Formats: sequence, structure tokens, C-alpha cells
Amino acid sequence: MAVPISQAWTVATYVLKQRLKGRKRFPLVLMLEPLFRCNLACAGCGKIQYPAHILKAELSPEECFRAVEECGAPMVAIPGGEPLLHPRMPEIVSGLVARKKYVYMCTNALLLKEKLHLFTPSKYLSFSVHVDGQKEHHDFSVCREGGHDIAMEGVRAAVDAGFRVTTNTTLFDGADPNGVRVHFDELMAAGVESMMVSPGYTYEKAPDQKHFLGRARSKKLFRSILSNRKKSWRFNASPIFMEFLMGKKDLRCTPWGMPTFSIFGWQKPCYLLQDGYADTFAELMESVEWSNYGTESGNPRCANCMVHSGYEASGVNYTFGSLKGLFETAKALFNRYPDPGAQRLLNEWKPSHQGPLVQIGTVASTHSTSELQEVSGD
Ligand code: SF4
Repeated sequence: MAVPISQAWTVATYVLKQRLKGRKRFPLVLMLEPLFRCNLACAGCGKIQYPAHILKAELSPEECFRAVEECGAPMVAIPGGEPLLHPRMPEIVSGLVARKKYVYMCTNALLLKEKLHLFTPSKYLSFSVHVDGQKEHHDFSVCREGGHDIAMEGVRAAVDAGFRVTTNTTLFDGADPNGVRVHFDELMAAGVESMMVSPGYTYEKAPDQKHFLGRARSKKLFRSILSNRKKSWRFNASPIFMEFLMGKKDLRCTPWGMPTFSIFGWQKPCYLLQDGYADTFAELMESVEWSNYGTESGNPRCANCMVHSGYEASGVNYTFGSLKGLFETAKALFNRYPDPGAQRLLNEWKPSHQGPLVQIGTVASTHSTSELQEVSGD
């Protein structure tokens, strides 16, 4: 099982209740961003480009709990920034667990091993560790030599201590599908519960703009990686979302499915775009012109987007939208997608770019290395 049965049951009953209530739009996962500062400066990230005074700001536990209660989603993901840099993160996590929310704390794991003792294993808590690929690929991606080894040490320490550990892999253009498949083997061998994979989003503020995937290339890449699936792989994503990534399903974006709350308030309309902020969750839901977003809207910023935060909830809604959806999801759960054409893509794969995503050791940020070290305390 990719998630505990209690979690699958909680999510399924929540979605069914919302549908029975006739709610057209409802949240599935709250994206809670208690801070933006980070101890990495990844090439594909748009979050760490804020001025220093913003990077130093953070939400209090009380503000986090208020947002969680306002929103009502059964799951809370805590991205950032790096959540482990928040001095009150253990208090935030224990408060969310006490509220019986399924928490995914998204971390680069650089500090995981040393801070593990501040947390208690629970079926409600999972560390979602950011590992973008095998050693060389991950270190390029996060612009830090040795980042992969530290992250994997954190993964193993958390698994050994009895925590739920999942992983989060973001793929950019030039990713080697053969390497990604080996990466999946390595993650499963390290004892992770399940893995999540998504294409990166073209953040306007991200320093590296050349390596984001277009939709057609995303589908080809994911078809080659996720077809001929190994029995040992477990994924922490809707099977329908994964079919969408492989180009086998067409889904419309559900930006309200994973609403984002940060030090600025409720972000309009989604985790990726910043078209203003609402003071309350209700105001967010009412004030956004939702038809202006999603690939079909013609909004150029949505044209190439296939990210998890926009389409995972779409997959879940597809599942619970009809008997056909339930049946197709059940079938997809056991499908290993045999596909000789995808095997050929793997065999014929060649790097499309010269050189790495970014040079190891460079800091992909508009801030200097010393500025970033000062705000992160690294
Ligand atoms: S398509 Fe992507 S960028 Fe556009 S609203 Fe959906 S999640 Fe946001």
C-alpha cells in the first residue's frame, strides 16, 4: 500500500462527503508555507528569490493552525523554504498531528538526521524528502555537492527511527529516464514508503529558465519512466495523475485542490502563480476567477504546466467522480503499463543538452552565498 489504509479511508470519505454536500470546489491538501528561507538554492526554485527581510519572516504555530482549520483539508503539506529551519516546526507538526491531519513535511533533509529527535513517529506524519535523482543528478539539481548523500542519510535515519518517509522527485528537461528508474530502485531499497514524481514548473523567478519541460516532452519522459513499471515501486500519487503524466489521460487543472497559505496570506490562484493574496480561505475561493487558469484557459503561464499541485487533486476528483473513475483507478493501481515503445525510448535516450543543469557549487540565486547563509543560519 502506498499510503496507510486509515489515510486512504480518511481521504476517500472526505471527498465523498464534499461531493454529497454538492461542493463544486474543495481543497484536498493545504500547502502550508511557514517560511521561504532555505539552506539550498536550487536552480529550478522560485521561492528563495525574495529579499532578506521576507526570507527571515515566518508564520507562528497559531497562524498555521488557524489556516488549517479555515481550510479543512484532510492533508497538509509543509513546503517552503526548508521547514526544518523554522525554530517552532516541531510544535507546528505536533499541533497538526493532534488535529488528525495527515502531514507531509517537505524537506531537503540536510538537517533531518540532527533534528529527528524533535519529532515523534506517527501515522499522521511523513517526511517527504526532496531527492531529484541519483547522486550526480541530484547534486546538480540542488547546486550542492554531497547533497544527495546527506539527503539519503536523512532518509535512512528517519526510516530506522520508525517514521513514515516518502520522497519527492522533480524532473527537468535533460533528465535521464534510465537514471530515474535506477533512482526509484535505490529509494525503495532505502525503505521509503512511497515516491512522488512531478515535472518542474517554469518559475519566472527561477535562475535556470532553459531546462523546464514542455507538455509534449513531459509526456514522453514520463511514458518512458513509468511504463514497464517494476513491481517493487510504490507511488504516493493518484494513479490517474500518473496516467496524465504519461499522456494517457487528459485532466483539467484543479488549482483550488491544493491551496497555499504563507506569510502573505492565501495565494491566488495556486501554489505556483502569485496573482495576489486573500485574507481568508473563503475570500480566496470566492475572489479568484478560476476560469482564467489551467491549460484550456489560454493563460500562457499555465500552457506547459503539469505539476502535482495543480493536477493531483484533478486525478482524485476523476476517481470519485463516477463509477467509471473508480473502476479505472482500481485497474490503474495494478497496471504496470507494459509498453515496448517506451522501452525503445529508454534504449535510444541521449542527453539533449550539453553539460549539467547548473554547475555544482554555484548558488543559483540573486542573493550572494553569504547572504543566503546569513538568513538560513547554515
Ligand atoms: S495550470 Fe499550473 S500554473 Fe496554471 S493554475 Fe494550474 S497549477 Fe497553477
